Amino acid sequence: MDNEAVISKNFIEQIIEKDLEEGHCSTVMTRFPPEPNGYLHIGHAKSILLNYGLAKEYGGKFNLRFDDTNPTKEKEEFVESIKEDVEWLGADYEDRLFFASDYFQIMYEAAVKLIRKGKAYVCDLSAQQIREYRGTLTEPGKDSPYRNRSVEENLQLFGNMKNGLYADGEKVLRAKIDMSSPNINMRDPVIYRVAHQTHHRQGDAWCIYPMYDFAHPIEDAVEGVTHSICTLEFEDHRPLYDWVVRELEYENPPKQIEFAKLYLTNVVTGKRYIKKLVEDGIVDGWDDPRLVSLAALRRRGFTPESIRKFVDLVGVAKANSSVDYAMLEYCIREDLKLKRPRVMAVLDPVKLIIDNYPEGETELLDVANNLENPELGTRKVPFGRELYIEREDFMEEPPKKYYRLFPGNEVRLMNAYFVTCTGCVKDENGVVTEVHCTYDPETKSGSGFEGRKVKGTIHWVSVPDAVTAEARLYENIVDEEKGVYNEDGSLNLNPNSLTVVDKCFIEPSVADAKPHDSFQFVRNGFFCVDSKDSTDEHLVFNRIVSLKSSFKLK
Ligand code: ATP
Ligand code: MG
Repeated sequence: MDNEAVISKNFIEQIIEKDLEEGHCSTVMTRFPPEPNGYLHIGHAKSILLNYGLAKEYGGKFNLRFDDTNPTKEKEEFVESIKEDVEWLGADYEDRLFFASDYFQIMYEAAVKLIRKGKAYVCDLSAQQIREYRGTLTEPGKDSPYRNRSVEENLQLFGNMKNGLYADGEKVLRAKIDMSSPNINMRDPVIYRVAHQTHHRQGDAWCIYPMYDFAHPIEDAVEGVTHSICTLEFEDHRPLYDWVVRELEYENPPKQIEFAKLYLTNVVTGKRYIKKLVEDGIVDGWDDPRLVSLAALRRRGFTPESIRKFVDLVGVAKANSSVDYAMLEYCIREDLKLKRPRVMAVLDPVKLIIDNYPEGETELLDVANNLENPELGTRKVPFGRELYIEREDFMEEPPKKYYRLFPGNEVRLMNAYFVTCTGCVKDENGVVTEVHCTYDPETKSGSGFEGRKVKGTIHWVSVPDAVTAEARLYENIVDEEKGVYNEDGSLNLNPNSLTVVDKCFIEPSVADAKPHDSFQFVRNGFFCVDSKDSTDEHLVFNRIVSLKSSFKLK
């Protein structure tokens, strides 16, 4: 499209283009630096696609780097799930999979370099004292009594830290910057701490671990990252980032750029909350289809294309804002609308009997897989005397403007014939058990019949040929009408977030559907075969999204 060319560049693209033009860098390298302490969510997808997209746009490279410098919370399980998610999104890191923990020796040497330059010192103050000495936003901090240790003493003590001579918290290494800086992050921040912890990759090789603000710029510089893109909360840390790369005298120092996090309105994304939902058994793991972790979205039936479209629509901003979940739904509908077959499935069945249709006979009707996309071809759908229809498609005493089945009314059975309702059978409780009708053989779909028109069309599934399946219908895990959080900070759970339809009936074309296959069930929404619980004997479908939308693209 022509107007794609005139879409203005986002602010990060503008920075990169200027850097290339002015020769600050000759190529672009970006990275996605997750900490392996949980599953990725939709917000991370934005960061992944932004970083990957920029590298691609400028012919550069994109790295996946695990920021695994904190041994307490990190696990191998999360490493694997994160790799899977990044690959699923199509962010190709080629052979550039890195672990920050592989740079521990380099980081150690970098710290020694700072000590030699008189830019770092070992401090014996406790964590509490360090906080007290730090000052506040309005008051400057005061110097640690250990600030003026000699280089030799600092080298000796830092070596002792590394060699395990001290207990956790007994000593730290601090950058020597400025205790009266207006930016608190610059008031001699801690850059190394003692932690006698086993690391998920390094084992017990180290008992000192670098702090994020010191480690991250080194990781970037070592890999040759040119633009280190992070979220807004790191804006105040940028002077420290710049200080580290400057003092370590990297030839091509990376540049930190901040952008706004992606938030979804009324949707729970915080790891803390999700972990609790999982632990309390309220959801079925981190990939429960009601969650917005990438694993959950994939299981629910979202495609990488739909997520890419969503991230593009959201755009890149410098101010925090929140996006409606309906926009994500819009993106998956748009993606699947033309790609996937439209099949007939009945979720709340009642039998329809065509009394004048020959018993025992089956016709195979030719049906287009997707009327808007002829490339998907056609399929055969069996039709016969006994069908399932939706219970709501019949009413004995209909209100005005009800165009579906009621005694005396004629409707079209989708892809098949006109039928006229003749009545119904009820059980002793007055519940309708069968609807009866007669059909007109002249009115077959595609036969060119033009005799008369009907106002309603209903879908159906042939009783003897139906595939029986379970369908799971979802709503937001929290009650958004009443607010996401209760007064005590707990989640205000929506009791209707999951509805299980034990037995729905679907036309036989879905019989061989495999996990992750998706379909449009006419009128009922887009559905995807569940990847955890579905088997060949017992198909389980997740509703990805209903067909109706409250979101309109302006
Ligand atoms: P959370 O706080 O949601 O658990 P996190 O920031 O702890 O996320 P990290 O593994 O540290 O998760 O983040 C990896 C990268 O993803 C970072 O660069 C971070 O800035 C980015 N990121 C995290 N959350 C979002 C979000 N909501 N929108 C965009 N980027 C995000
Ligand atoms: Mg984090």
